Order: sequence, then C-alpha cells, then structure tokens
Amino acid sequence: ASPQRPCKMGIFLLLLIIISCFTRISANPSAQSFYDEKVLRNDSDSIKKASNDYGNIVHEIPSAVLFPSSVKEISCLVRSSNERSPPFTVAARGRGHSVRGQAMARGGVVVDMTALNKTRSRIRVSGKESSGFYADVGAEQLWIDVLRATLKRGLAPVSWTNYLYLSVGGTLSNAGISGQTFQRGPQINNVLELDVITGKGEFITCSRERKAKLFFAVLGGLGQFGIITRARIILEKAPTRDFETLLKELNYNPEFIFRTDTSLFDFLHRIGDLDSPTGPLDSHPWLNLFIPKSRISDFNAGVLATLLPKLNESSTILFYPFNRKKWDDRMSAVIPEEDVFYTLGLLHSSSPNAYQIYDEFNSQVLGFCKRAGIKVKQYLPNYKSQGDWIQHFGPKWPTFRQRKATFDPKFILSPGQGIFNSA
Ligand code: FAD
Repeated sequence: ASPQRPCKMGIFLLLLIIISCFTRISANPSAQSFYDEKVLRNDSDSIKKASNDYGNIVHEIPSAVLFPSSVKEISCLVRSSNERSPPFTVAARGRGHSVRGQAMARGGVVVDMTALNKTRSRIRVSGKESSGFYADVGAEQLWIDVLRATLKRGLAPVSWTNYLYLSVGGTLSNAGISGQTFQRGPQINNVLELDVITGKGEFITCSRERKAKLFFAVLGGLGQFGIITRARIILEKAPTRDFETLLKELNYNPEFIFRTDTSLFDFLHRIGDLDSPTGPLDSHPWLNLFIPKSRISDFNAGVLATLLPKLNESSTILFYPFNRKKWDDRMSAVIPEEDVFYTLGLLHSSSPNAYQIYDEFNSQVLGFCKRAGIKVKQYLPNYKSQGDWIQHFGPKWPTFRQRKATFDPKFILSPGQGIFNSA
C-alpha cells in the first residue's frame, strides 16, 4: 500500500460537511455537544492510530476519525456521506486487530467504536431462565469484558475466540472461531439479535425473524452491509470443572491424557493480553485457511509435512476441526462445501521490513493448494482483485453482491476489505 495524505482542503471540506449535518439537528443538545467536544478529530495521534492495525503492514490515512459518544452520531455520519457526491467512505474500527488494513478508510472516516464505551457500561445481562439467558452487548465491547460481566451472574457465552481482546463487532463481522466452534458453532451462530446502522444510515434492529436479510448479511459480512452497534449474545450457565464426566464421553488413549486444573476464566483467558507492546511494533503477515476434510491427507503431505518445517519459531501454528452443520449457510461467512473441515492458522511475526518473506511462504501454501485442486477458503480473507473475491465467495457471490446493493448501494462501508472498492 502506498499511503497518500489527502489534501488539506479535502479534509476541511469533509469536516465541514459532517459538522453541517450535526448543526442541522443542533436543536438536539446531544448533537450540539458532538461538535463542541470535537468527537470528529484529525489530529496526528488519532490519524496515526487509525492508519495502522495489528498486521502493521498496510497503512491507509483517513481524513478524520469519529469518536462517537452515541450510536446516533454514527448514523448521522453515514447519512451525511450518503448526501455527498461522491460519498466518503466509513470504516468501523473495533480493536484494529485486522492484519491487512480491513478497518481502514483511505481519505474517509474511521469510526473508533471503543469511544462508545466511554459514557456508560454497554453490557446488560439477562439472567431469567424462562426467557433464555442472553447479554445485550455494545459491539465495541471486548470479549474479555463480556466474560467478566457475565461470570458475575454465573453465566457465559457459549462460543469464543481463542483471544479475548477483540471487539464483538469485529469478530461477528468475520465468524469468531476457536476450539468450541466444533460443538457450538462460531460466534455468529450464537447471536439472537443485532442493532445495525446500514450503509444508508438507517438504524435497524434485526434477527432471524425480523429483517432477517440484514441479520444474515451482517454476520460474517466483513463490515460491508452495516455497522453493528449492539448484539444479543446467547449465554449458558458457566460450565464448572467436570473433568471425569467429560472423559466418559470420549474415546481416548489413557497415555495421552494431559490434565491441568483451571477456572473457566483462566482457561478462556489463557493467551492473556498481547496488546501491551513495549518496543517497536512487529508485523503480522498471517494466513488462516479452512481446509476440506476429503483432501486433508494431500494437504498434510504438501503443506504440514513439507512446507511448515521450513518455518522458524516466530510463527505460531493453530490447527483444529469444524463441523459444517454448526454453521448457518444463510450468513455471509464462507466455508468449504464439506461436512467436516479444518482450520490452519499461520500466525507469523516479523520485523516490519521482513514480512514479505512470510507473504512468499503464504503464497507457496496457496499455490500448492491451487495446483493440487484443494478447495481451501481463507478465513479473515485478503485478496487483491475482485476476481479473487468472486472466487472466494463462489456460489455466495451473487447474494453477497445483491446484499451490498440493498444495504450499502454507494459502497461507503469498510473499504479496507477491498471487495467493492480498492483499499
Ligand atoms: P477490526 O480489525 O477493528 O475490524 C475488522 C473488520 O470488521 C473491519 O472491516 C471493520 O470495518 C469491521 N468492523 C469492526 N467493527 C465493526 C462493527 N461494529 N460493525 C461492522 N463492522 C465492523 N479470530 C477468531 O475468529 N478467533 C480467534 O481466536 C482469533 N484470535 C486472534 C488473535 C489475535 C492476536 C488477533 C490479532 C486476531 C485474532 N482473530 C481471531 C481475528 C479477529 O477475530 C479479527 O481480526 C477481528 O476482525 C478482530 O476484531 P477487531 O475488533 O479488532 O476488528
């Protein structure tokens, strides 16, 4: 990516447009305070943060960053973009833990969702067994905070990511996977209801029963159809230690038992917080794949046994299985067309000037799969051309494109994914 600083006049015009949107509703005191408190900023710290992510590879410079104090401010921003010709792009940024600029907006506005958390707690737990346990959670919330809040009531979400310092909106825009996914489905399958601001700036509450098209579009939708502002997450009674019972359900070789006693919190929090860097930032040219079971032996021979041994210890490798029937094909997330598939995570870490070595390695893995006809799908996908995206979505592409035309016809949202407009 070659960052280009948008001209000062462009920034000024953009600020003017957005401010005018708010002054038009300035009879509303909260809208007035929006401008007074300068929640739309273009100072160098705000811009610098919004033009980097965990990957530390892509750097796209926005014109401004919105630090919303209310959901209404976000819909106002998106509506003001719709009124412009051409519109400016808008990217929600949760924790910025994408690795290829997916939450960036060159020349547009990045919405720092974490600012919504500044005013009051946005996690509400419903512990009535009769109506089913659930939590209404602001999309900016981190899963670690959802865990803490729900455990206080003896409850917990049923499906997790391995790492908990990710935002709810960010993981629901992808899928949200971990070891629990095999049994419980990905996080997107464990959501009851969403509040969404579409690319037209409309605020809509949706679920499987109500405005279902939007609900299914947004889950795994890579931020393309709307900005999630609230999710209703399914909870269950927090599991207690019940090792012996668990073992009874398994076929296993007793010599391979590894036993360690830990609380649910410590187990889910086993990776801790990786986000307190002290030195220079590393780059993270990650590749995550879903591999169909029918070709896993070929994949093993060509990748696990042949290519992986060439990696050095600065890569963490994850590998575990999934069950297709625990996924809902109406959602936008893309998985292989087989009952069982596996995920391989190649979590590389390198100095910022050496990430290309790992990109080359990733290309070898993808090249092998292509030559061998192994129909892998990328998780947290990253492609350079629309042709590659069309191939990625396969039979889902016409629906994905139609959903974009319905919910974000001006291509305003999440440009950093590079699906409809180049990053
Ligand atoms: P961001 O990077 O901020 O955003 C990602 C995309 O979602 C962008 O396109 C953005 O515009 C969009 N977006 C963000 N918020 C919203 C919203 N509220 N509404 C609509 N769109 C939105 N993934 C797993 O599934 N399982 C794991 O175990 C896992 N572990 C990880 C560990 C680490 C250390 C890292 C860096 C990533 C990991 N991931 C994992 C990947 C992670 O889920 C995705 O990168 C996810 O997007 C991160 O959430 P975020 O809040 O940082 O999203």
